[in-house]
Amino acid sequence: MSAPLVLTGARVCTMAARDGFRPRTDHAIALRDGMIAWLGPHADLPGAFATAEKLDLEGRLVTPGLIDCHTHTVFAGSRANEFEQRLLGATYEDIARAGGGIRATVAATRAASPEALLAASLQRIDRMLARGVTTIEIKSGYGLDQETELKMLRCARSIPTQRSVRVRTSFLGAHSPPRDMAAGDYLDTICIPALRAAAADGLVNAVDGYCEAIAFSPAQIARLFDAARALDLPVRLHAEQLSNQGGAALAASYSALSADHLEHLDDNGVAAMAQAGTVAVLLPGAFYALRETQKPPIAKLRAAGIAIAIATDCNPGTSPLTDIGLAMNLAATLFGLTPEETLRGVTLNAARALGLSDCGQIAPGLRADLAVWDCADPAELTYLIGGAPLSKRIFTGKLC
Ligand SMILES: [Zn+2]
Repeated sequence: MSAPLVLTGARVCTMAARDGFRPRTDHAIALRDGMIAWLGPHADLPGAFATAEKLDLEGRLVTPGLIDCHTHTVFAGSRANEFEQRLLGATYEDIARAGGGIRATVAATRAASPEALLAASLQRIDRMLARGVTTIEIKSGYGLDQETELKMLRCARSIPTQRSVRVRTSFLGAHSPPRDMAAGDYLDTICIPALRAAAADGLVNAVDGYCEAIAFSPAQIARLFDAARALDLPVRLHAEQLSNQGGAALAASYSALSADHLEHLDDNGVAAMAQAGTVAVLLPGAFYALRETQKPPIAKLRAAGIAIAIATDCNPGTSPLTDIGLAMNLAATLFGLTPEETLRGVTLNAARALGLSDCGQIAPGLRADLAVWDCADPAELTYLIGGAPLSKRIFTGKLC
């Protein structure tokens, strides 16, 4: 048991009920043992908390701690040189032929010591936390061999020993086939055995894949998902990013937690996701960096009642973005999401995309992971281009 802390003078966006985006003024939130013990108008604070330590937020906005539900934050090396080369006129093919692209990140990540990999990752994690994030999903996928895939997952799982953040890991061995192997051979001889090894070591919360003409086919992804099902692990999928492969419908048929990207999602995919309750994770940083023009079918997602989440997709190739606030702004500016939809996309719906029901909203009995903002209007969090002012983060009931 730890001593309770009561936040007073809070403007609270609970994100819990249907009207959870509407701030409740002059509220108090009692935190105890890492959980939210009570929430309500300050005048109604129960006597049990009368003598507890108080922290007056002086009218500041409080939201659930933000959740970045799709990232590739653990990797080594930099691809800034490729970015520069492309702007100087080199094509993707030129860069790939010179050993660049994902292959460069795989080589750097394989070569990095566990300590160096962690140090590089923590630099990015610190930038994410400074934007109010309290839970981060991190994928493997730059090893493409068993040793490095497990090294990445161990690195991700060690981050909470270094920083006040919760990490959920996804096995993404099916990210990109290695250059010297057919995708199917890689999947059967390296990727699925590596998944079993990672699961045996308790390193996997979910299994992810990249279903695309340049990566893995729906039939291959189905083999991966069968292996996940045998291990009792939930699945999610990079689907319909560059073309319509039917990946989202396939994922939904495995009751996927989420299907991610979705620029080329068709009506069949929308219907399948709606029926399965699969969350649509939108990644506007990649859309922006790749200068895509085909947007995800937002109106159809809304009409079908599909939960929409937003994430940074932090990765060295197509979305070198650590700022979840900027991802929210991009989702509004590029896709037309409302400030309420973007905030729900990085709280309640992001939690759903990770299969978590103990965070993403502010309610008694849930984790005391909160973000306190130096502003009063929750629309500021989306409106300001990468600049909403964070006052403090609260992680498991503690100021940090
Ligand atoms: Zn991704």
